[in-house]
Amino acid sequence: MSDHATLRDAILYFAAFENCKDFMVQLRWPDGKIICPRCGGEKLCWVEKQRLWKCYAGHKQPTFTLKTGTIFEDSPIALEKWLPATWLLLNCKNGISSYEIARDLGVTQKTAWFMLGRIRLAMQDEETGGKLGGPGIEIEADETFIGGKARFMHPGRRTQMRERGNFAKTIVSAVLERHGKVHAAVVPNRRKKAIQDHLREHVEPGSTVYSDELLSYDGLDEYAHQVINHAETYVDGQIHTNGMENFWSLLKRGLKGTYISVEPFHLFRYVDEQAFRFNNREMDDVHRFVIGMKQIVGRRLTYAQLTGKAEVAQHG
Ligand SMILES: [Zn+2]
Repeated sequence: MSDHATLRDAILYFAAFENCKDFMVQLRWPDGKIICPRCGGEKLCWVEKQRLWKCYAGHKQPTFTLKTGTIFEDSPIALEKWLPATWLLLNCKNGISSYEIARDLGVTQKTAWFMLGRIRLAMQDEETGGKLGGPGIEIEADETFIGGKARFMHPGRRTQMRERGNFAKTIVSAVLERHGKVHAAVVPNRRKKAIQDHLREHVEPGSTVYSDELLSYDGLDEYAHQVINHAETYVDGQIHTNGMENFWSLLKRGLKGTYISVEPFHLFRYVDEQAFRFNNREMDDVHRFVIGMKQIVGRRLTYAQLTGKAEVAQHG
């Protein structure tokens, strides 16, 4: 596949199993030396008819497939559908719904919904490369409300919401390195501790932190803190959170347009999904796909993780 491959190219390419195999082998065994994931043995035989390898080391479970040891393991769905589905979720700016996947790939909506759940779990990024910022580096800090029905609201309009008796419940707190990566998470409340814990966990001391006037940012003594008063001036020179607004608007579009209803409890999965695309925004679709796929093949999700904790709103 060329660096400039489009969605159409990807679907056509992965429609052929041979291409899926080439891609997975290159991803999993970059030096071309295929080894048994159970014993590391190299004496293997590819059984074309069953699309599996047989290891001759003489242990239990001597066979393995391209999916063994990845989040695709145990799935009856073919790679010819998994790879385009993954491409879609990793690359569609506003996310993609199970209805769209079902239509595009010819699976049921329920199947598509489970597929997206698995891929989304692999997109969760716990090792985002340590903390953001550093001395003199600019960080934007902000938080937003997202309602039970994924209604999006800037904190500045909170009072308005409350007056309407429609108080949003879930708060997402985020820190963004200017022109760099974002780290966003669902936080329990907007009190000082919750907001500052999230910030301290993800931002290096000495960074210059821009935030709005929210008191929860008071006392961040190890940072150079600049406050923006949204009511007076939206953009005051360097003191703004415009980069963050960009991330919020992507998150909002995805939640509103693609995922009809997301329960607050599941919101963090969509936040992580959007953060993944945002943090890998400055590359073409092929590279973003390869980065996401590396996370997918490097992980093995347990059945409990998939069924117990991975239940996202069925409508998504
Ligand atoms: Zn083996």
